[in-house]
This record gives sequence, structure tokens and C-alpha cells, in this order.
Amino acid sequence: MSALLVHLIEIGAVDAVLQVAGDPDLAFGNRTVISQTRQDILNCAGSRYAPSSPLAGLNAFLASDRKYAFVGKPCDVAALNALKREDDRVSTTFPFLLSFFCAGVPSLDGAREVLSELNVDEADLAAFRYRGNGWPGHTVASLEGGGHKQMTYAESWGGILSRHVQFRCKICPDGTGGAADVACADAWETDEKGYPVFEERNGISLVVGRTRKGEALIQEATAAGRIALEEFDRKQLIKIQPGQTQKRRYTLSRLLALYLLFRPRPRYRGFHLLWNAKQAGVWANLRNFLGTLRRISRGRY
Ligand SMILES: Cc1cc2nc3c(=O)[nH]c(=O)nc-3n(C[C@H](O)[C@H](O)[C@H](O)COP(=O)(O)OP(=O)(O)OC[C@H]3O[C@@H](n4cnc5c(N)ncnc54)[C@H](O)[C@@H]3O)c2cc1C
Repeated sequence: MSALLVHLIEIGAVDAVLQVAGDPDLAFGNRTVISQTRQDILNCAGSRYAPSSPLAGLNAFLASDRKYAFVGKPCDVAALNALKREDDRVSTTFPFLLSFFCAGVPSLDGAREVLSELNVDEADLAAFRYRGNGWPGHTVASLEGGGHKQMTYAESWGGILSRHVQFRCKICPDGTGGAADVACADAWETDEKGYPVFEERNGISLVVGRTRKGEALIQEATAAGRIALEEFDRKQLIKIQPGQTQKRRYTLSRLLALYLLFRPRPRYRGFHLLWNAKQAGVWANLRNFLGTLRRISRGRY
């Protein structure tokens, strides 16, 4: 994604990028930044499994006469896209919307539990990486005074962070950046049973052009030598992204639980939720329905 953003800046298609970087005041947090150079963009690279709010200062950007590429979670991009229908300035200010596959955002308690598991005191933390420096890359807590502690991606995301994903993400069917021009993901390899393997290896990203503009950007960046593409068999997608597949299949049963308990719920169009729910089968739907009822009745939502 960073390579595509660098391309947009260097050909002058946008003046800057509105995106999210690590927070200097909270080593495992995020803050929103404006990147104007290649180095600014590279400073933001890497997945940070923590809350972010890149739309928070939106009005100031819409009032400016600059053009920005925007990078956000699928929900951020969907919101910006929806605003286009009401405010013409959105399309002019943000000609390119980029997103990534998102299994949901863990609360900051997720990172705190990782630190506790690593036996690191928050006060002793000099820097924190959720992953990166490799693929998937380890979760690394660097300590004041030198040294570091780390765990694998499978241990941090699989064992801890995924349990802290917020409820609103569990009722979101759009984990694949449906409203973006381009969405990127991890193109995990799969084992003989078809499950993704998270062993360290050379990274490969999945790059999905979701609009004509996005597709053109990918082709132009390839022609300019910014990225190198190879063919990807779409049938593999369900296997390498089981979380995404389940997310969409279980949305309807979870919404139904909210409905029956008179709780507010989002209204979705175009996600084929009934068809997706049918693919999951009766038991999986029932489990998710009951699980959501239990969660709501315990106030954990
Ligand atoms: C919360 C979260 C959930 C994810 N879930 C999945 C998943 O289900 N499947 C999957 O394949 N991949 C998932 N990813 C990883 C995602 O696919 C990769 O970030 C994406 O492929 C881009 O990789 P890259 O190396 O091309 O991007 P890079 O070049 O490393 O750029 C990463 C970009 O993401 C932005 N970014 C990082 N963290 C955040 C954040 N919290 N909020 C907003 N913007 C951020 C950065 O500003 C940067 O622009 C998730 C990432 C996050 C942050």
C-alpha cells in the first residue's frame, strides 16, 4: 500500500496522504497524520492493531484546496464514500481511497495484555511494533535502556489481540474494503488442509482493484516499477481469509440477536447477508445468534 501511495505523491496525483501512524505519546496507539514525502509514508507502514480515527478532523481537509489520498479501515472508507452523496467536496479532496482487509480493531487493552504476557511494564516501553520487519513479522516491545521482548504474530493476533476485537466490528460485514478504490491484504499461504500459515517468509500482499480508478492505479504503479504483480486464483481467497468469510456469513444471525433484544443495529445493503448466512449452515448461525444474545445480556457489547 505504501508503494501505491508513494506513486501517487511522486506523479503529483495528490498533494499528500491522510493516514494513520504510530502515536509518539503511546507506543501501541495510533494518531492521524498528513504524509507529504516518501519517507513520511514509509514511517506509517505496518499494521497497527489498535483503534484509529482518521476521519476525526475531516472538515478542515474538506475546506482546504489540496488533494489527498486517504487510507483507512473499511468502515472509514465506507463512511467517506457515503458522505460523497451529500458533499461534492469529498470526491475532489479525496480522489483516491485506499483500505485493507480488516478482521476488526482490538481495543488498547489488547496491546496491554500482550505487554503483560511479555512481562513488560508500560512505563519501560521505548517502542512497540504489532508486526513487520518480516512477514508476518513478530510483535516486538523495545525497552527503555535497551533490549526487547517479542512474540510471534500467531501468538499476538491469534492468541490475544483477536479476543479484544470490538463488538461493532463483529457486526460489520465489510472487512474487505468494499468502498475503496484499492484494498490490500495479506496473501497468506495455506497448509495442506487449506488453513493460512503464519510462519515467517517473504511477504506477499494481495492487491484488489475495486474501482476502475483503483485498477488503473495498480496498473500504472506496476508499469512504473513500483510494485510487481503476479496472478492470484480468486478461489483461494476463502481459504486464506477464513476470518473474513466467517465475518460475512455470521453478520445476519448476530444482527438478528440485536433485533430481538430491541438494540440499535446497522442497516446494510448489498452484502447478500441472507445468502451468506445460508452458506454457514444452521449450527454456525445458531451458535453466533446465541453467542450474541449472551454477550448482550452480559452487557459486553
Ligand atoms: C485492524 C487491522 C485488521 C487487519 N485485518 C486483516 C485481515 O483480516 N486480513 C488481512 O489479510 N489483513 C489484515 N490486516 C493487515 C492488512 O491487510 C495490511 O495492513 C494490508 O495488507 C496492507 O499491507 P501493506 O504491507 O500493503 O501496507 P503498508 O505499506 O504496511 O501500509 C499500511 C497502511 O495501513 C495503515 N494502517 C495501519 N494500521 C492502521 C489502523 N489501525 N487504522 C488505519 N490505518 C492503519 C497505515 O497508515 C499504512 O498506510 C489488518 C490490519 C489492521 C490494521
